[in-house]
Amino acid sequence: MFPPPSRSEWTVENLECLVFTVPTDQPEADGTLEWSATTMVVVIVRAAGMTGIGWTYAGAGSSAVVEDQLCPIVLGADPMDVPGITEAGIRACRNLGRPGAVSSAISAVDIALWDLKARLLHQPLSALFGRCRADVPIYGSGGFTTYDDATTTSQLERWVGEWGISRVKIKIGESWGTNPERDLARVELTRSVVGDAVEVYVDANGGYTRKQAVRMGRRFCDDYSVVWFEEPVSSDDLTGLREVRDHLDLDVAAGEYGYDETYFATMVAAEAVDCLQVDVTRCGGYTVWLRAAAIAGSRGLQVSAHCAPNLHAHIAAAVPNLRHVEYFHDHHRIETMLFDGALDPRGGVLTPTDQPGHGLTLRTVDAEKYRVH
Ligand SMILES: [Mg+2]
Repeated sequence: MFPPPSRSEWTVENLECLVFTVPTDQPEADGTLEWSATTMVVVIVRAAGMTGIGWTYAGAGSSAVVEDQLCPIVLGADPMDVPGITEAGIRACRNLGRPGAVSSAISAVDIALWDLKARLLHQPLSALFGRCRADVPIYGSGGFTTYDDATTTSQLERWVGEWGISRVKIKIGESWGTNPERDLARVELTRSVVGDAVEVYVDANGGYTRKQAVRMGRRFCDDYSVVWFEEPVSSDDLTGLREVRDHLDLDVAAGEYGYDETYFATMVAAEAVDCLQVDVTRCGGYTVWLRAAAIAGSRGLQVSAHCAPNLHAHIAAAVPNLRHVEYFHDHHRIETMLFDGALDPRGGVLTPTDQPGHGLTLRTVDAEKYRVH
């Protein structure tokens, strides 16, 4: 039975779900989408006077899944048995369909429960998972297609010059790949700002066609020494990803839209990627993130944690086949605006906290003005 009967002295007594929508600092777009705000669904669980917090960057609709489907399972459950509670939640949502809003809701609850467990045991999350490394490398991520050259330059200078990050990623594939000359010019700008010693990554968010991706990738690699080509074509086009991979020396990456183990297993079995991206706020929380990392490792691949850096640092330290954690501009902003205890990116690494759980607490008063639910 999922979850199993309670065995510890604790039970989850309370679950609260809050939704915040935070406007971006300026208009943002990648190759295939534009946005002006980010919505965050926050789950708070309590037991024995302790609080656990998890969240997902998803639509507000995930809060209905949390409240209607998952809350009845979580209340009264033993917070020591997080995988059992998560599995019960997955099964309860069978008729809703797992991907998207449902899995995002499951993820936020799973993360909150792991945080609660760690705090009840007075342990940092990284100690609960067990560390393979003391800190995790990050890369600066942003470089939106809406930025002018001055904005791109100042963002790159902050990452590299101020914070000492030695890897940077910009968005390309502008307007579904219809502005390739500007893509090339922005990659050229990036290389000129960061110098030769920094790794330059590009993310097309599925904006190119297959042959276009090969042609563009060749230029990125040969002219600007780009080493990472993310979603050159749609991540649903596994054959296309494989084709691009076969024709280029740079690493092809995808996986951010993985919502269950089968997705990751299918992607790596298709030999579609050189590095598997996994997002703890989508895939099913810490519980499934670890399994996805094992799936990648079984094929000799590394994993890269997608976004939500303050949630990923603790689990990323637990796997031997980690490449890095994405330090995404929007999530850096939101996680430092809304929480105390956000990790410091300076030095180009995140060091998991030595405080109980993930160490973050919601600044309720600051957050309130962004609250929509
Ligand atoms: Mg991406």
